[in-house]
Amino acid sequence: MAFDPHEMDDDDPGSKDGAGPQRKYTEFDCPECNANNPVDDPIADGAELRCNYCGEEFRAHLTDEGRLKLRLL
Ligand SMILES: [Zn+2]
Repeated sequence: MAFDPHEMDDDDPGSKDGAGPQRKYTEFDCPECNANNPVDDPIADGAELRCNYCGEEFRAHLTDEGRLKLRLL
């Protein structure tokens, strides 16, 4: 039995709605511990996020330039 590390079960439903001036964030880097946290739904402005590693909670803010900023709650 050979295992191919590249063959991952990428079961993405592929909800591409194309139109959207802002890029969508489906992950964030924790400002506290730098851990990368994937999220199920694209991060919306004002969403509350929780780091799976350090447990801190953040409020997401999408700037006019489409950049994601996180504020500690
Ligand atoms: Zn963290």
